[in-house]
Amino acid sequence: MKRLFVIATGNAGKIRDFAFILGTEQNDFKTLREIGFEEDILENGNSFEENAIIKSQTVARWLAEKNTEATVLADDSGLQVFALDGEPGIYSARYAGKHGDDKANNAKLLQKLEGVKDRSARYFCALSYQTVIRESNGKFSISEPRIFEGECRGQINLAPVGDKGFGYDPLFIPNGFSKTFAQMELAEKKPISHRGKAIRALRDALENDLREN
Ligand code: IMP
Repeated sequence: MKRLFVIATGNAGKIRDFAFILGTEQNDFKTLREIGFEEDILENGNSFEENAIIKSQTVARWLAEKNTEATVLADDSGLQVFALDGEPGIYSARYAGKHGDDKANNAKLLQKLEGVKDRSARYFCALSYQTVIRESNGKFSISEPRIFEGECRGQINLAPVGDKGFGYDPLFIPNGFSKTFAQMELAEKKPISHRGKAIRALRDALENDLREN
């Protein structure tokens, strides 16, 4: 039987990434909306890891209360610019104030970097993985979170270039390339992206677990 695999996101693009890397044969991937979860999760952690755990924990508890076995995966990601002490970091989505205003976020970042020589940065992704299982006494319990991480290092360009991707992609030139993420097709971005690396780390760990059991 396929196992219920909940990705704690409303973002269809992310679901496609997870399904692509983890394989759809053994898993039945569902979004929060698809399982009927409608609460707002307050992401008030101090790091990507903490925010990912807050999300997976909240959803895992909700499923345990409903006596449902599942695997829950949550991710949190963002951009960290080293000369700005890691800004925008966990505030990446709302750096300029309004959540998801990519244009304003990019403009604010460029303004902050005016005159700054070191424009090195990284995208970072933390994944939190938890399972909800039915114990032999019939009670449902939640495993401790396991964290997987991925990063992609690069440089912040002097101006936005390209119209693919999202977020800070028009400004981000990954190391070893001479174009921004927003000039790349997904097939080119995926193997080097922070999220792709974190998902592959999770996949490798799960494969090891299966081999050992
Ligand atoms: P979240 O993990 O989906 O909440 O992402 C937080 C924010 O980080 C996004 O709104 C973007 O601003 C930024 N971000 C994370 N990953 C990427 C990426 O691959 N490209 C561009 N921006 C990203």
